[in-house]
Amino acid sequence: MEQQGKRRVLSGMRPTGRLHLGNYMGALYNWVRLQDEYDCYFFIADWHALTTDYANPGDVHGKSLNVAYDFLATGLDPAKTVIFKQSDVPQHAALHLLFSMITPVPWLERVPTYKDQQEQLREKDLATYGFLGYPLLQSADILLYKPKYVPVGQDQVAHIELTREVARRFNQLYRSATTPEVAAAKSDKELMKAEISENVLEEVVFPEPDALLTPSPKLPGLDGRKMSKSYGNTIGLTEAPDSIRKKLKTMVTDPARVRRTDPGNPDVCPVGDLHKLFSTPETLAKVYDGCRTAGIGCIECKGWAADSLNAHLGPIRDRSADLETRPGLVEDILQDGARRAESVAAASMREAMVAVGLRRA
Ligand code: SF4
Repeated sequence: MEQQGKRRVLSGMRPTGRLHLGNYMGALYNWVRLQDEYDCYFFIADWHALTTDYANPGDVHGKSLNVAYDFLATGLDPAKTVIFKQSDVPQHAALHLLFSMITPVPWLERVPTYKDQQEQLREKDLATYGFLGYPLLQSADILLYKPKYVPVGQDQVAHIELTREVARRFNQLYRSATTPEVAAAKSDKELMKAEISENVLEEVVFPEPDALLTPSPKLPGLDGRKMSKSYGNTIGLTEAPDSIRKKLKTMVTDPARVRRTDPGNPDVCPVGDLHKLFSTPETLAKVYDGCRTAGIGCIECKGWAADSLNAHLGPIRDRSADLETRPGLVEDILQDGARRAESVAAASMREAMVAVGLRRA
């Protein structure tokens, strides 16, 4: 049951360990803002970690705890939001299995990330079913909770489209068993009439969710490329202020500013991108003016960027320090979240099993 009057939203994140600024701006920053308006479910997708790292999974549990830590430090509130770990709710695996029975293999082969990631991760053998089927596991993750929206960036829209196709196929194959009007239809004409009745549409097992396109601002890493652990160019979400200041000193700038006297352009400078996200309008105005007229040097400008970033991350660091003093709290929150998630997931799974004919209502 959705929280009274609120539409449901669900999203997940892989357990990559402590999060960096790119993870924060790409997802968590928006998730925190969705909590008041929606009935939110946010989870750590630990089974997904195995789809690419099955040969060397490492301490997936420890990494999951670290991500949960950062979920809470950024402001996800367990009083408003269900926060849980995917593998604590076994229905994710069970529904994935049911979906694997009905999903044509070419649907998975044409998901753009299937070929892209095989290209990018050549050192790994990704010719496994788990890797091919991970978008289907995502479909199960989503549809179990029947959310109205899934907040995603543009690069994930193809996965939501696959989820919608899987829901449609499941509903087409199995809804007749669960819908009295269709089951009672004695002719094609009656069947067509029953299928377009509002009653039938309401009784589909899995409503199709919509993508909630979230803004993903440009957040470059220290070398100007996309911020990513694999590039070694990250700034940690709870990194110490001095360390952030030191790292920013090495950040690349507008290549046109070779000498201090050369004017530059914040619109083509990664440090300028940080200012746009984290600095006040007054500081931003000083950056544009000083950079374009060569009135400021890059060292000074990077110092202002460090000030802005540290001010923004201060409350996150404080919450993180507070969590450190309360051992066991994060595990307790995950367990409670799993219990709440499982009550919803178990009901959906029962419904799906009845629809397929694996059990009786
Ligand atoms: S002054 Fe600032 S915005 Fe301009 S090039 Fe230097 S670091 Fe970048």
